[in-house]
Amino acid sequence: MTRYVETFSCTTCPSECSLSVTADRAGSGEPCVLNVTGNRCARGEAFARQEIVRPVRVLTTTVLVNGGDERLLPVRTAAPIPRDLSVEAMRALRSVVVDAPIRMGDVVLADVLGTGVDVIASMDIDRA
Ligand code: SF4
Repeated sequence: MTRYVETFSCTTCPSECSLSVTADRAGSGEPCVLNVTGNRCARGEAFARQEIVRPVRVLTTTVLVNGGDERLLPVRTAAPIPRDLSVEAMRALRSVVVDAPIRMGDVVLADVLGTGVDVIASMDIDRA
């Protein structure tokens, strides 16, 4: 077991509390959180534990549009996905082309990489 401390800001709300996490790394390499300090609420502790074990992020990018008054559609995941899947998710989205018209919230790619999370449109695009 190797004990270590990581510090980072909680991004769950605008307070941005400074978190300090003490963790152990087992022989398998898997981190085990021992203690979280600096959080002002339970959501901060949950964020800290997630951040150490398997960080998640909302992925934002653009995809191509066919027949729209814009060539690119901003999209995002409807919920955070594991950060270690970001590159593969971006690769999957590179081949996506959506047909106009598109409305904000429309699903552009369902269940990205089997995460159970959809990629959705972040704006409206009308036909050209
Ligand atoms: S610990 Fe709680 S209060 Fe602090 S930034 Fe995170 S969510 Fe906000």
